[in-house]
Amino acid sequence: ERRVVVVGAGMAGVQTAVALREQGFTGNVTLIGAEPHQPYDRPPLSKAVLLGTADGSAFDVDFDELGITLRLGCEALGVDPGAHVLDTSGGPVPYDALVLATGAEPVRLPGSDGVPGVHLLRTLDDAERLRPVLARQHDVVVVGAGWIGAEFATAAREAGCAVTVVEAADRPLADVLPAEVAAPMTAWYADAGAELRTRARVRRVEPGGPGEPGRVVLDDGTRLPAGAVVVGIGARPATGWLAGSGIALGAHGEVLADDRLRASVPDVHAVGDCASFPSARYGERLLVHHWDNALQGPRTVAADIVDAPGGETAAPYDPVPYFWSEQFGRFVQYAGHHTAADTTLWRGDPSSPAWTVCWLREGRLVALLAVGRPRDLAQGKRLIQAGTAMDPALLADPARPLKAA
Ligand code: FAD
Repeated sequence: ERRVVVVGAGMAGVQTAVALREQGFTGNVTLIGAEPHQPYDRPPLSKAVLLGTADGSAFDVDFDELGITLRLGCEALGVDPGAHVLDTSGGPVPYDALVLATGAEPVRLPGSDGVPGVHLLRTLDDAERLRPVLARQHDVVVVGAGWIGAEFATAAREAGCAVTVVEAADRPLADVLPAEVAAPMTAWYADAGAELRTRARVRRVEPGGPGEPGRVVLDDGTRLPAGAVVVGIGARPATGWLAGSGIALGAHGEVLADDRLRASVPDVHAVGDCASFPSARYGERLLVHHWDNALQGPRTVAADIVDAPGGETAAPYDPVPYFWSEQFGRFVQYAGHHTAADTTLWRGDPSSPAWTVCWLREGRLVALLAVGRPRDLAQGKRLIQAGTAMDPALLADPARPLKAA
């Protein structure tokens, strides 16, 4: 019987195992995960799980019923692609096909390792450690005004904490959105009663004493009292364990997959936050750290494994990327990829509660960001997918539905 081994029991790993069964794979499927917990979903960790309005976010999947062997609390340590053997903390595991789905690890704040009161937010354990921090309504300092920082700040304000967000750039989301689009989001922090300090860098974190909060010391000497510090300054593919395996990695440490999500050595696939893939649609390699990519990619991986060996019937993986964020009472959604756009068009006033920004290239929609306009998102995503030519005048009228000329 063919043996498929999936490493990483997050969204991408679980979906790959499930997709294999959905597509009729009858061989062995083993899902290996480093965390001890029943596999769970991450987006609720910065939302309901953090606030305690949901107990957990375990996936509703019956692994026994699907004949998927779960090996939790088991860490992959290396792989020998020639011998087709994965090395793990529980001993060697031979495979016929291997799927790398180890996700990403949060970037740590230099010098903060081991300092009490400094938190990351990636795992269920992280969220459970942060829950009592919110319940005690400590002063919190959030480092980084990215997606995670904004969502954590939202939850902390909701819980009644005093929140200061420290951001090195001059605006939120500086790495991912153009200045004109991120600028209106600056006001969201103040509206929610959070203080956003841009162009500010953390020099060091001083731990608190008994009954005393710690302090975050900024480059300009400002000392911010901090009952807790939450660091949200990005994430890197969790692929350190692949060093020396011969599997090609990219500049961010991501597995360089091809358009069927195959790694550079035979019978190894890579999917989710740990892998990049070439997008013909956007003419560049994409490294996507969002949930929808960890949902869609696994279908391609499973199709390729089911069709193998040598099968070319799996369609290339070339999605219109999609993600959402819930922050400061707003539902923010993004579809596409805007870096090559030549035109930016607004639908609605960005200081109002609901607006959309559209990016076009040569008259075709390539990306959009919708704030509180889910219908724009749904219609726009279809137009991006189809590559339809647009009429800019129609597009800019928020009273009309988003549709082709
Ligand atoms: P992961 O979910 O990271 O899973 C990888 C798993 O592999 C982990 O459990 C890890 O422990 C395990 N692993 C790592 N190394 C090894 C090893 N060597 N051996 C064995 N196991 C290993 N996206 C959105 O689109 N919208 C949102 O609102 C949103 N909210 C988010 C909120 C939070 C707090 C976080 C952290 C992420 C959020 N995301 C959101 C992103 C989304 O959750 C990720 O894109 C998605 O989880 C990626 O899935 P993955 O399976 O590739 O990786």
